[in-house]
Amino acid sequence: MALAQLPRLNFSIFTKPPLSLLHTHFTLLPKHRFLISPKSTLSVTEPIPISHVSEQEDEEEIPVTLSLEKLFVPPETQVSVDDPSLSTRILKGSNIVLSKYARDAQVVQAEFVKSSVKTEDCPSDGLPEFALVGRSNVGKSSLLNSLVRRKKLALTSKKPGKTQCINHFRINDKWYLVDLPGYGYASAPQELRTDWNKFTKDYFLNRSTLVSVFLLIDASIPAKNIDLEYASWLGQNQIPMTLVFTKCDKRKKKKNGGKRPEENMNNFQKLIRGFFETAPPWIMTSSVTNQGRDEILLHMAQLRNYWLKH
Ligand code: GDP
Repeated sequence: MALAQLPRLNFSIFTKPPLSLLHTHFTLLPKHRFLISPKSTLSVTEPIPISHVSEQEDEEEIPVTLSLEKLFVPPETQVSVDDPSLSTRILKGSNIVLSKYARDAQVVQAEFVKSSVKTEDCPSDGLPEFALVGRSNVGKSSLLNSLVRRKKLALTSKKPGKTQCINHFRINDKWYLVDLPGYGYASAPQELRTDWNKFTKDYFLNRSTLVSVFLLIDASIPAKNIDLEYASWLGQNQIPMTLVFTKCDKRKKKKNGGKRPEENMNNFQKLIRGFFETAPPWIMTSSVTNQGRDEILLHMAQLRNYWLKH
């Protein structure tokens, strides 16, 4: 069942997230604003307005401000600004609140299962799945390898003949990570560049076991039209989606078109906000530092466990 379309049932939860996977330390700020730095350390100073960011030192980290309405609150989870535990229930470097369903997040086993060219050919065992998709070179293979802690598992999807397929990897014999074809190859002919319309649209619209799409966006460069189009299409079609910002370790302003990851992330979200009823979940990641790895797995765990119950 699509999480984005569910009514929110309100009852409080006080489940503590697994400490080994969480290092979050937040405090509620005046006017209910959270301040999130890339490493998510606590800060109680006033947020730095984006317009002042370009005057900062090159390597300085820019905090991201997050108001209550920008949080992603899973179903059956209540957030209240008066709840002192709320600050410890937001996943590090994200806007995602943890729910009681965040358990069994570890990856113990991962194996490639099959490549499919049509939705109907995908595995039919009914296990829940998460689809990773993004522009070519966004860091999709690196992220997949980092999630499963296998250096070369994603190479399977890069083999000739498989780059344009739906590639299923089974995790712990319980769920799937799905590698979808990259889009936006600069050198590809126009028909191939827009091929996701034909090829992946059908998968998004008709795959009943798809719990959520994880759309990868390169945070080290300014928003690209093709990514904005992709995100807005998912929003308009109410396909549950998480934004995964990649390459958040790349902080050199000059190399990144003058912007830092936090600015690019904020801009991207502003540009797509109108296409979503509520703020989509987002997570900052780096396959170089493994930032966001445990957080993605916890987020997937709570979406999956909720999906299985309903
Ligand atoms: P894919 O085409 O989306 O599968 O992208 P790859 O995973 O093959 O990565 C494309 C390039 O980006 C490679 O040169 C990677 O080393 C680099 N890359 C991927 N992830 C990161 C990251 O988190 N940080 C940095 N700095 N580079 C990355």
